Amino acid sequence: MSDIIHLLPDSVANQIAAGEVVQRPASAVKELMENALDAGCSKIMLIVKDAGKTLIQVIDNGCGMSETDARMSFERHATSKIKKADDLFAIRTMGFRGEALASIAAIAQVELKTKRIGDEIGVRIDIEGSEIKHQEAVNCAEGTSIAVKNLFYNVPARRNFLKTDSVELRHIIDEFHRVSIPNPNIAFSLHHNNTEVFHLEPGTLKQRLMGLFGNSYNTRLVPVEENTGIVKIKGFVIKPDFAKKTRGEQFFFLNKRFIKNGYLHHAVQSAFEQLLPNDSFASYFLMLDVDPKTIDINIHPTKTEVKFEDEKAIYAFLRSTVKKSLGQFNISPSLDFDQEAHLYNMPLKPIDGIYRQPTIKVDENYNPFKTDKIPGAERELSNKSNWEKLYSRHADNQLAFEIKKEEESQQTINTDWDNDLHESNKKLTYQLHNKYILTHIKTGFMVIDQQGAHERILYERILDGFEKNKSATQQELFPKTIELNTPDFELVKELHSEIQTIGFDISEFGKNTFIIHGVPADTSAFDSVKLLEGLLENYKQNLLELKSDKRENLARSMARSTAIKSGKSLTQEEMHTIIDELFACRMPYSTPGGKPTITTFSSDDLDKRFKK
Ligand code: ADP
Ligand code: MG
Repeated sequence: MSDIIHLLPDSVANQIAAGEVVQRPASAVKELMENALDAGCSKIMLIVKDAGKTLIQVIDNGCGMSETDARMSFERHATSKIKKADDLFAIRTMGFRGEALASIAAIAQVELKTKRIGDEIGVRIDIEGSEIKHQEAVNCAEGTSIAVKNLFYNVPARRNFLKTDSVELRHIIDEFHRVSIPNPNIAFSLHHNNTEVFHLEPGTLKQRLMGLFGNSYNTRLVPVEENTGIVKIKGFVIKPDFAKKTRGEQFFFLNKRFIKNGYLHHAVQSAFEQLLPNDSFASYFLMLDVDPKTIDINIHPTKTEVKFEDEKAIYAFLRSTVKKSLGQFNISPSLDFDQEAHLYNMPLKPIDGIYRQPTIKVDENYNPFKTDKIPGAERELSNKSNWEKLYSRHADNQLAFEIKKEEESQQTINTDWDNDLHESNKKLTYQLHNKYILTHIKTGFMVIDQQGAHERILYERILDGFEKNKSATQQELFPKTIELNTPDFELVKELHSEIQTIGFDISEFGKNTFIIHGVPADTSAFDSVKLLEGLLENYKQNLLELKSDKRENLARSMARSTAIKSGKSLTQEEMHTIIDELFACRMPYSTPGGKPTITTFSSDDLDKRFKK
């Protein structure tokens, strides 16, 4: 039998390597921008079409390549950046593996134009699936332009795996941030489908951050600077009152390379300690500079993970430096968190200001145990099984909401509370720990989670608004502008009509900015900018957790940001409103996220406890 082992052709080997290096358009963007940096340029233009699926082009004014180097650059393990293994420990360039161009050329149609500074003539090379298709001398600008077209054109499985344009564009913008932040002295621009998304002039780090995230960052940044023997730390943290609920803006750069490091993140997060509202994350842009000898960047092909020699010491320095900066800028725990304060002031009044008895939608024919459609209650129909579960859960636990045979109707469900209350005690409610509402029911007592209950109420109200295609808007006396970072701006554009339906009246106002003319009528106690920001934050957070549709997500997010919070003390009247409105809901027993809103205790339970 003949031998069966053979070397793979380069094109196949490169395609396999490409799997490691290029996962999506954003990975190619990263590699090409890093090459431009390594070429010592002062200006980088990034042009993408269809979120990089059709075109990714990077144009730099760096050193350029000779004709031979241009051809060589597409070979695997071809690099100008290291010569021997020892060089690995003194790396200051972004690349060094010599894999990127070979990988990209294996899975796309690439057009390279390059000319060295001082040369009269440049070269153009067209390469497709690792095969050089065309080469000619051209007259082009000094520097290099690489256009990558139809990424994964020859790997359909990969191409089909790509996400929607907005998701892929977000990844590209993430990479753009990661490369442009640590290089504020270099000019950058990003064009997507012929619109300029970013235009960044050379300047300071602060100016760069403002260019990327909006001018409002001017007042949000707290400088951080420290120079110790083993690490230089420089950059900014965001004031705690602007902290976000999603992980948001957390950037570590090690020798100008973006890295992820949970351990160091913890150092910064813990420096903020009690300064951050619950579940919020510290935001930061921190440059760490260490001797390349003391780190190993070679452990991951996409190189965002790094091993440090002195990790513990760096942790300690980082923590104390950030702490000191926060202290110096007088950001003390007594600071009140605007957003929370607004939430606490939230009035509980219904839209029209009139407290109403719960309205009960009665369908005489409804039987929760029948499987056919419930007329007049289509939307919550899908929750019918939940209803059943609720019943069985209550039954299982022998709780108060027993189903009485003759009352198997939706009416029973929505009026249980009313029927169950002792008339004389109906108006007696108690608030426990500013968190729970306690009230009597015939068979014992009921505890309502105030925040969860209010979320449920608002959620259904917002969904109703969607259904009717309109909610009440209250016009702002002084319209405010909100400046967003580009991904958020794009998101608001995408959600514009839905946001409008919730009751916001907003319009585009130049680059990355919206004007807020009006807000949903029952939210006038909130700062409109914070309200919209909070809505976006919740929306993004939900995107990570669930794949619900836009409206569902927006309703949940809005309910979440505007619901009264645990910790707010409530008047009797407010508690009654909550109870009444909760039981007018189609699905009062759980929050939109599925957590219980109500629990009951029977007097039997109590009797047992007292061994009666
Ligand atoms: P690496 O960056 O790891 O060296 P690449 O495959 O990314 O590997 O690039 C191979 C080589 O091509 C680089 O080492 C560099 O010499 C050259 N090169 C790539 N892009 C550029 C550019 N924009 N300007 C000048 N030279 C470049
Ligand atoms: Mg490279």
